[in-house]
Amino acid sequence: MKAYLDYNATAPLREGLKAVMLEAMSAPANASSMHGFGRAAKKRLEDARKQVADAISVFPSEILFTSSGTEANNLALRGFPTRKLFVSAIEHPSVLKAMEGVELLPVDGQGVVRLEALEAALAGQEHGAALVSVMLANNETGVIQPISEISTLCRKYGALLHVDAVQGVGKLPLDMGLLGADMMTLSAHKAGGPVGVAALAIRQNIAIRPLLTGGRQELGRRAGTENIPAIAAFGALMQVGLDSNAIEQMKAQRDRLEAEILAFAPEVAIFGIGAPRLPNTSMLAMPGVASETQLMAFDLAGIAVSAGSACSSGRIEPSRVLKAMGVETGLAGNAIRVSLGVTTTPQEIDCFISEWKKLYTRTRKNAA
Ligand code: PLP
Repeated sequence: MKAYLDYNATAPLREGLKAVMLEAMSAPANASSMHGFGRAAKKRLEDARKQVADAISVFPSEILFTSSGTEANNLALRGFPTRKLFVSAIEHPSVLKAMEGVELLPVDGQGVVRLEALEAALAGQEHGAALVSVMLANNETGVIQPISEISTLCRKYGALLHVDAVQGVGKLPLDMGLLGADMMTLSAHKAGGPVGVAALAIRQNIAIRPLLTGGRQELGRRAGTENIPAIAAFGALMQVGLDSNAIEQMKAQRDRLEAEILAFAPEVAIFGIGAPRLPNTSMLAMPGVASETQLMAFDLAGIAVSAGSACSSGRIEPSRVLKAMGVETGLAGNAIRVSLGVTTTPQEIDCFISEWKKLYTRTRKNAA
């Protein structure tokens, strides 16, 4: 591999976390057991809970560990069966498909939720009858949503607000009080933690209906023996906090990538570029070249990128996110997502830019 540029899919395990996991795996670890091993596991669990809670400024009792961001999102939406659900049209499928009958909130051409549409939707409900779910940052375009404004509207109409902050971990400040969220989903593996561990933060005065029953773990809100090694690594990851210098450097590399490609081919579309975006993400369309063709060419060149869109049975469907943004289907079918991490090197970016230019030049010659 010459360049790994698919951090929004999953990030390489961060240095030091393998050691944390191996250490936690070195003894039996069921945190519900009464004996010494169980108590040691329980301590690791509660230490990690405090680390995650501190990172987002909530109480430890407000952190509920889950197996994935997908599970946390499902729990957040299915946990309130009597509320009317409003979710943005660009949510991750684990929100969009969590429940039947969710109502979609439109986004503008930059991929930002239309606040007037949210207000109209909430005004049409009885006070206190709705649950709104809007992501902090989109996994395909990186576009950041105006969560504080959304929270203000939710308060006005007594709606609960769930924020899927999976793509914000390690990239954006995640103070839950400042964001004004009632529930927030985090996942470890997009930020260098292990796959298979995540959390739902939920305000302590809010009673949620569990998805998994049959055990008293997680204060009875999520049954099942906790995955202590993964949870310990998640805690250690969150304790590290944001490295603002590394994030600045990552953003500078993303900006250089976009600037060089635009200088070479000004006709290239970069989606959401006019909105606040994550510092690591770029979704761009190579005119006239299908996403699949690009992915294969980059893969052959040793570069891992992705189509922002879902790949089902080997076929890439045009992105729902771009569709919701009003991007025309042909152009959406030319889009790929490049996502960087704090360990991405300038050489990896050079390598991507050079392959991108080669591929575009080749396909334009073939078309001529
Ligand atoms: N939410 C967003 C915005 C995501 O990007 C993802 C993963 O792609 C998820 C939720 C699901 O997280 P997990 O992979 O931990 O199930």
